[in-house]
Amino acid sequence: MINYEDEQYKYRVSFNPITGVYVRTSVLDDNKLQTEVEAFRGSYPHLLDVGIMGHCLHGISGKCAQSGVQCYQSGSHIKEPHMSYDNFKKLIDESSGKTFQIALGGRGDPDQHPDFINMIRYARENNIVPNFTTSGYGLDFSILPEVKKYCGAVAVSYYRSFYTTRTIHALLAHGIKTNIHYVLSNDTIDEAIDWIENKKIPSGINRVIFLLHKPVGNGSVENVLSIYDPKVKYFYNLFNKEENCNIAGFDTCTAPALIHFAPRILKDSYDTCEGGRFSAYVTPDFKLLPCSFDGDQKFAIRLDKYSVEEAFNSTSFDNFRDSFKTYAGNSDENSCRNCVDKELCLGGCPIMKSIVICDVLDKNAL
Ligand code: SF4
Ligand code: SF4
Repeated sequence: MINYEDEQYKYRVSFNPITGVYVRTSVLDDNKLQTEVEAFRGSYPHLLDVGIMGHCLHGISGKCAQSGVQCYQSGSHIKEPHMSYDNFKKLIDESSGKTFQIALGGRGDPDQHPDFINMIRYARENNIVPNFTTSGYGLDFSILPEVKKYCGAVAVSYYRSFYTTRTIHALLAHGIKTNIHYVLSNDTIDEAIDWIENKKIPSGINRVIFLLHKPVGNGSVENVLSIYDPKVKYFYNLFNKEENCNIAGFDTCTAPALIHFAPRILKDSYDTCEGGRFSAYVTPDFKLLPCSFDGDQKFAIRLDKYSVEEAFNSTSFDNFRDSFKTYAGNSDENSCRNCVDKELCLGGCPIMKSIVICDVLDKNAL
């Protein structure tokens, strides 16, 4: 167990590197007892998404489009260099003891990075658990013993292809904790309902994580879910049944939908967007963003000039975090001001109000 007390923001956090369980207290009083106030942010990201991949041969050869995946990193046409191993080491050196986990990704499958094994080994040697997401398309199964040794979990992006199934089987055969990352959109919601209702999640999988589709990169606006769609309501309603919660998970972008449609899920068990509060994204060209979906890099801070700590505490990140404070507040212009769940939800995504599944939020505000 790794335990850590954030003295600046006055809470404690524990992380179990074997099970991946992460627990955070509420804000502590002067006697170190928990108060009713949730911790709003940390002084350093506990989770770093690290975009080690600058380009994706899979995407450029059209595999994403063939499988119906709308890559938010525009991997079908943007070709930039991968993150260098030196920059990766610099990141780990600074984050050791403050960040618990990294999630490797970027524009392509991270297992295709020439220094992939060195990276996962270096992270683990510095007490940071590496995880990664892959389509499995080019995955060399001979590296799986090292993946098992160094990584916490692997997520397979659901591409509905032979290589998806093949990769899931290979990971499970090596005893690797395996999740499925399933992008939930208008195109895929029928299949998602079928998976949950008819228990079609492949056996052996730890969880299927439903990620909200976002209109970023190749992601189309037409595929964004709407709160007014009865199917959306029906899908999230399914998670009022405990048996369905035991096989699924959600990205934090989903919090408003759970608030509306899955009220039987204990609200203490999930959080809203943690971007810029407890997590951040490092781009392949070494900038820190509050979230990987900041496609225009509006909040980017260069890590060749500043440390992660400086970037995370910068005015630019404060501006991002101000969105949460606005929506948790009581000003007359704030559409969320009368919502009983505003301190949990914080108004949802600060970057794209269009993805927030809520009928009260003014999507044109801010
Ligand atoms: S009204 Fe605002 S705070 Fe409440 S659920 Fe909707 S988006 Fe979240
Ligand atoms: S900023 Fe938006 S897209 Fe990013 S994690 Fe938060 S809610 Fe999701």
